[in-house]
Amino acid sequence: MKLKSLEIAGFKSFANKTTISFTDGLTAIVGPNGSGKSNVIEAIRWALGEQSSKTLRGTKMSDVIFSGSSTHNPVNRAEVKLTLDNSDQYINSPYSEIIITRRLYRSGESQYLINNSECRLKDINNLFMDTGMGIGSFSIISQGSVEDIFNSKPEDRRSIIETAAGVYKYKQQKHDANLKLQQTHENLDRVEDIIFELK
Ligand code: ATP
Repeated sequence: MKLKSLEIAGFKSFANKTTISFTDGLTAIVGPNGSGKSNVIEAIRWALGEQSSKTLRGTKMSDVIFSGSSTHNPVNRAEVKLTLDNSDQYINSPYSEIIITRRLYRSGESQYLINNSECRLKDINNLFMDTGMGIGSFSIISQGSVEDIFNSKPEDRRSIIETAAGVYKYKQQKHDANLKLQQTHENLDRVEDIIFELK
């Protein structure tokens, strides 16, 4: 699995549609301070489902929508598209190319798409779970995050190791199963109460 290209439009400093292709080898993005290098990484993070506006250096999610400059009017929609080469079937999907799209409108409306079909954020999270590329993974190491790992509590460090080892997915499934079990117990209690009243 490989990130083939990134398309950004109306996201942060990218007023116009901008496409970055990641060819074989190393890709470096260089530019003067404030030219939008970090915004490129944030666009990837956002498309993968980032929900924290603070992590994206904003106060509310709509801050990611291009707010205008001396040469461009503000826009009403931010859109980021990630194209992944899945010809090795690394991601559990029948498609050899996976396109993830996230859109946000000033009205607050938001959309997630997988291969141009609308989906839920949960579907995106599930798609990337344990692939090493999801939002909680370490495929994106931001400024300061190495220091954060060194300074983190042992239980937080354990969760980092679990994510890297692929255990997290099973923990999540166990958590979901426990919630369902609890719900079923509550339903059974209710049924027993009704049976008792009817006797
Ligand atoms: P440095 O090298 O200093 O870390 P950088 O190249 O990483 O800088 P970024 O931090 O990615 O630059 O980009 C900052 C620029 O993005 C600023 O000029 C800021 O005004 C612009 N910017 C951020 N959000 C928006 C927005 N919603 N609309 C328009 N411009 C924005």
